[in-house]
Amino acid sequence: MHTPSLAVWKFASCDGCQLTLLDCEDQLLTLADEVRIVTFLEASSVVVAGPYDISLVEGSISTEADRLRILEIRRQSTILVTIGACATAGGIQALRNMADADEFASVVYARPDYIHTLATSTPAAAHVEVDYQLQGCPIDRGQLLDTLAALLIGRKPRLPAKTVCSECKLRGVTCVLVAESIPCLGPVTQAGCGALCPSCHRGCYGCFGPAATPDTAALIPLLRRDGLSEDGVEQVFSTFNVTRFAAERNDR
Ligand code: SF4
Ligand code: SF4
Repeated sequence: MHTPSLAVWKFASCDGCQLTLLDCEDQLLTLADEVRIVTFLEASSVVVAGPYDISLVEGSISTEADRLRILEIRRQSTILVTIGACATAGGIQALRNMADADEFASVVYARPDYIHTLATSTPAAAHVEVDYQLQGCPIDRGQLLDTLAALLIGRKPRLPAKTVCSECKLRGVTCVLVAESIPCLGPVTQAGCGALCPSCHRGCYGCFGPAATPDTAALIPLLRRDGLSEDGVEQVFSTFNVTRFAAERNDR
């Protein structure tokens, strides 16, 4: 019987989403019985040549070499799944898309002439066709395992369509936005974290990216009600999923 091969790839990223796979612990052993993990540099220096049945792609496309590599990975992969905010939205590094990348390099690096970077940080989907994407910074372990199980048995992954607010209510957390005027993106953010930040008395930072139809026009008056400035509103949206929130806001 053919055992499907799994390859894990890194682009511009912090490795946190790949670590989610290693963090699967007991389930990782079960998974290792069902797939051949042929390339996963976070765990092993072995790199096996393609083709691959499933590729997990972490990180954004930030250099010309990245752009060429994602084309080749797509060509070698039957199913390509992007994992995390970097791979699905461009990540925090996509803040440079709204600025001058050369100016950033000149401020940060002693020898900016050594830096060969694209002017933008973009998701893999901007360059190749992507079959599934897991949002989050980092991704949720349960969503990753469900997606891999779905691909192995031939059903569609069960990815949540609800918002962080619904998870928050299920946990019985007191709403920090209503009760304490703490800015919270839960109403416009896709579920997946289990409302981790509100349960720790913090507002949602939008790590899981915009929900299917994010009604930012309804949320922003609430954010501004307690004195959050125009710049403050822009800042709460300018994190890991800055490009996707910018594209999907309905308040402007
Ligand atoms: S999405 Fe977040 S956790 Fe995942 S690689 Fe990017 S920065 Fe790291
Ligand atoms: S704290 Fe945030 S996520 Fe929770 S219900 Fe209130 S707005 Fe929604």
